[in-house]
Amino acid sequence: MDISYILNDLNDAQREAVTLDERHALILAGAGSGKTRVLVHRIAWLTEVLGQSAYNILAVTFTNKASNEMRGRIENLIGHKAQGLTMGTFHGIAYRLLRQHYQEAKLPQNFQILDADDQKRVLKRLLKSLELDENQWPVRQVQSFINSEKEEGRRPHHIDPGHNPFVIKMVQIYAAYEEQCQRSGLVDFAELLLRAHELWLKNPLVLAHYQARFRHILVDEFQDTNTLQYAWLRVLAGGSGKLFVVGDDDQSIYGWRGAKIENIRRFDEDFADVKLVRLEQNYRSTGTILKAANALIAHNAERMGKELWSAGEEGSPIKIYEAFNDLDEASYVCNQIEAWCEQGGARKEVAVLYRSNAQSRLMEQALLQAQIPYRVYGGLRFYDRAEIKDVLAYLRLLTNRDDDAAFERAFNHPPRGIGQKSADAIREVARDQQISMWAAARLLVEKGFSARAKTSVQGFLELIDELAQMREGRDLQDQVMQVIARSGLQAHFEKDRSEQGESRLENLDELINAVSQFKPKPQETVPGLDTEEQAEQQVFGLPEQTDLLGEFLAQAALEAGEQQADAWESCVQLMTLHAAKGLEFPLVFMVGVEEGLFPSQQAVDEGGRLEEERRLAYVGITRAEQQLIITYANRRRLHGNEFYPLPSRFIREIPAECVELVRMSGQVRPTSEAPVLNTSVQAALAAQRPADYQIGHRVRHEKFGEGIVLNMEGAGDHARVNVFFEQAGAKWLVMAYAKLERC
Ligand code: ATP
Ligand code: MG
Repeated sequence: MDISYILNDLNDAQREAVTLDERHALILAGAGSGKTRVLVHRIAWLTEVLGQSAYNILAVTFTNKASNEMRGRIENLIGHKAQGLTMGTFHGIAYRLLRQHYQEAKLPQNFQILDADDQKRVLKRLLKSLELDENQWPVRQVQSFINSEKEEGRRPHHIDPGHNPFVIKMVQIYAAYEEQCQRSGLVDFAELLLRAHELWLKNPLVLAHYQARFRHILVDEFQDTNTLQYAWLRVLAGGSGKLFVVGDDDQSIYGWRGAKIENIRRFDEDFADVKLVRLEQNYRSTGTILKAANALIAHNAERMGKELWSAGEEGSPIKIYEAFNDLDEASYVCNQIEAWCEQGGARKEVAVLYRSNAQSRLMEQALLQAQIPYRVYGGLRFYDRAEIKDVLAYLRLLTNRDDDAAFERAFNHPPRGIGQKSADAIREVARDQQISMWAAARLLVEKGFSARAKTSVQGFLELIDELAQMREGRDLQDQVMQVIARSGLQAHFEKDRSEQGESRLENLDELINAVSQFKPKPQETVPGLDTEEQAEQQVFGLPEQTDLLGEFLAQAALEAGEQQADAWESCVQLMTLHAAKGLEFPLVFMVGVEEGLFPSQQAVDEGGRLEEERRLAYVGITRAEQQLIITYANRRRLHGNEFYPLPSRFIREIPAECVELVRMSGQVRPTSEAPVLNTSVQAALAAQRPADYQIGHRVRHEKFGEGIVLNMEGAGDHARVNVFFEQAGAKWLVMAYAKLERC
């Protein structure tokens, strides 16, 4: 059999990893060394050479985008043999598992996923009903307490609060929240995993089934698994499943969300006979970028230690742009993107990465003004937008009337005259009688409400029932269109003639679009299973004929916005550094690289978190293939306040020989305000500057006449200067050719 197509594009170490026999393996390697590629080829090796059915393989990725990409790459390699492969994120896989075994998991069949935002609303309401002051019990804190307990696998009864009144109360809230979710058929993200884990522990038959099925479990980005995910993997692998995990301890960036870097460190202790393979060649970035990344991450003490080298070109220096303020920074980024495109680059090759979502707004404004198409990836995601969530709330109620989070959102939006008093009455009855808000509203309509309140609430209940009936015989797109129109949401947004109203209507159209293209995930079961597998299937039953609307809603919650990826083809991509993990782009900007922002103030204050911030910087730098541009501003407005930040320590940790300082454009500042760069960087940067000129100097050019120096960059033969000529406007000139004279 010719298997060269699996092995051809691999180096020796990668080949060693791909061709291991059936055993546990840890592939530990730095960024861009082909870990993800190895994982894909390993799956091909398992099916093509080791004779495994794709049905017996489970591959876990960190994002849905990664999962879709990986599926495509595997199909390219092994074609139809990829059918039956189970692939997805931990959450996505847990969701599918719970759907299939909802009874054993003690969930209603039509359970819905509660995203972080909805979770907050549910908690807010819960705190109110428990008569707890939000100032003393901030929702965020409660939310993070509950989520992190769940991520550690702990239910309220597992927690021993001792005599600590704070923890005692938190546990009570946690318990009340659990009850409420169970009643409403709601499952939050952490619950998906915990339920799936408990499903296995409490149902040995179900577990045995999946243990027998998933003989090979492959995990990408293993360094970011949390306690529960790791436990989940260990239980599933049981005695016989083989784990093939790839990761990079230097890229562990989700500690703040419960990820445990120790998982990768203790992997070979927890599993017997683990083969460790290191990959050391980087294929992604230029030598300069790699050198910068290596030097930066060397400042971390807690590392497993890896060497990375590249056979590629040294490439151009990393540009560091010191902006006058955040506006100047954004406009510099736009100029550079334009220059990239003028030189034949594509917009989709460009990524702008930032530490916090709040930074995207200004960048977006500048891109809009410069008419550069862009997409924000993972920011305020499509399915997180208010108007989309409004429609989804109605849709959720259609499939599950007890979904209180959806009820809260929909019942008086658009306004239908349900007053505050009626709303409170509904909440109170729901709480007192431990029933859903829907059921409470029903009760109150039958007896309790005044005539006026009754009419408006009844109107809402009838509307939902009617819409539910209307679904019959209509396709999904039609159902959604009906909901948008008959709920009154469309008319409500039409009334709003502002730009925002318009963009909301456009988003509703986009939703209809998304629905029309929606295809549920391929079923895990495939025709043509061998008999053993069929027998197992019969024991546990084939998946229910799933409701398309239910599937759509689940996907909306799990995959927020990712199916729009095709439309991003010609756009610059904006995303947080966290969202950029695993991705690569020819041109990368890291913006706002300032003390207080990156590393974040919180990380600096809390201590112990600085190393994780540095790993995040390492992730950012190693996304770049050809050119990396780092920017910082001397003045920034954020969250309504003005800051005068210093450049980030991470900039100082990049060796001077890798960088080129670009001076800010147009603005001349006294040197006393100059940012504190370390002396070696300063010296190196000073050496690069075209020595004879300074910003503000008057110069004369043979053809363009007199002008003022605005900006300078580069060194030696590459030194360039930006001059504003009175007659010819601003021009960038190469010093070696420009023959400028001081005047
Ligand atoms: P990260 O740590 O960022 O997730 P990674 O280790 O998963 O990175 P990949 O994304 O698999 O790395 O690979 C990085 C780039 O190098 C990709 O463009 C990939 O196609 C390319 N690459 C990997 N191995 C080879 C190889 N042997 N020959 C040529 N290109 C390769
Ligand atoms: Mg990868």
